[in-house]
Amino acid sequence: MFSYRHAFHAGNHADVLKHTTLIALMKYLTQKDTALTVIDTHAGAGLYRLDGDYTETSGEAQEGVFRLFSASNVPAAHAVPASTASKKVATSKAAGAAITAGEALAPALQDYADLLRGLNPQFATSGDLAHLKIYPGSPFIEQQFLSGRDKLKLFELHPTDFKSLTGNIAQLGVGRQVTVACEDGFEVLKTFLPPPARRAMVLCDPSYEIKSDYARVAACMGDAVKRFATGTYVVWYPIIPRPEAHDLPRKLKTLATKAGRSWLNATLTVKSSKLTTDEAGDVKRPGLPASGMFVINPPHTLKAELQAALPQMVARLGQDRNAGFTLDHGG
Ligand code: SAM
Repeated sequence: MFSYRHAFHAGNHADVLKHTTLIALMKYLTQKDTALTVIDTHAGAGLYRLDGDYTETSGEAQEGVFRLFSASNVPAAHAVPASTASKKVATSKAAGAAITAGEALAPALQDYADLLRGLNPQFATSGDLAHLKIYPGSPFIEQQFLSGRDKLKLFELHPTDFKSLTGNIAQLGVGRQVTVACEDGFEVLKTFLPPPARRAMVLCDPSYEIKSDYARVAACMGDAVKRFATGTYVVWYPIIPRPEAHDLPRKLKTLATKAGRSWLNATLTVKSSKLTTDEAGDVKRPGLPASGMFVINPPHTLKAELQAALPQMVARLGQDRNAGFTLDHGG
């Protein structure tokens, strides 16, 4: 059985990138009159406590959502290393972005903050980060934007997280609009495509705990685009020194281009990926230094939204001179 539990990571910098992007996508896609089917292949528990045992143990939210909203933390943005730049890539340097204390949040980050305020009324009224206690996973974010005609299908394979997810969703009292199943998200996706009203957004957000997840994401997305070419497909991936991780965005780019579909790739780096040695001489792993969101068939509004939000994420979440972002698109 898997050992990955998202509760350890809830609200970290990867969640900030992922969930800000997800909110921008959901906001746009639910504006139309036609029903939208949202499929979350790797849903997690749905809702997390930032003051719970898991999050306190890892403290990852401190380097993510807490740091983002801590007013004092507004260093200048740094450029990404030149080697990651390409023709259509906007970088933190290209955006010339350095934010100052008190600067208004970019609209996408403002929407993210508003959603967190909605779940944390005491935080909303006081602005005190000590009252930021509930963190929404992707299922809760998606659900917030649905209207009566839309459907949300959630898949989670870990029995404990599946149980938590089922309980968390049941509390919403939304009936059959949201379904939860303890099934393999990679396997079941094909059975829902194409969706009845021919509008769908798929979030594929595995833990990449198993090396084969990288290949499964690429295969699953390739198959999905063949079955339903106009869906919006969203993949989160870690940026770590591992060949499979490096190849995944390249594979997604190739499959989108071959299918004649547009794509967007946004990455956020907060620190160096190098191992360090502490005072006692012990080698320390840096933790996740960076991650990316790859979107096939992105809405035309997404690039501008992220162009405004990413420099602020870098400025607020960046931990060393390696911090930066890229925003690449094609098709
Ligand atoms: N999407 C969630 C969010 O943003 O709040 C976080 C998901 S977490 C990164 C990945 C989840 O996928 C874990 O809870 C893990 O148990 C689950 N999982 C792993 N393999 C799976 C599979 N093949 N199908 C469905 N769920 C899986």
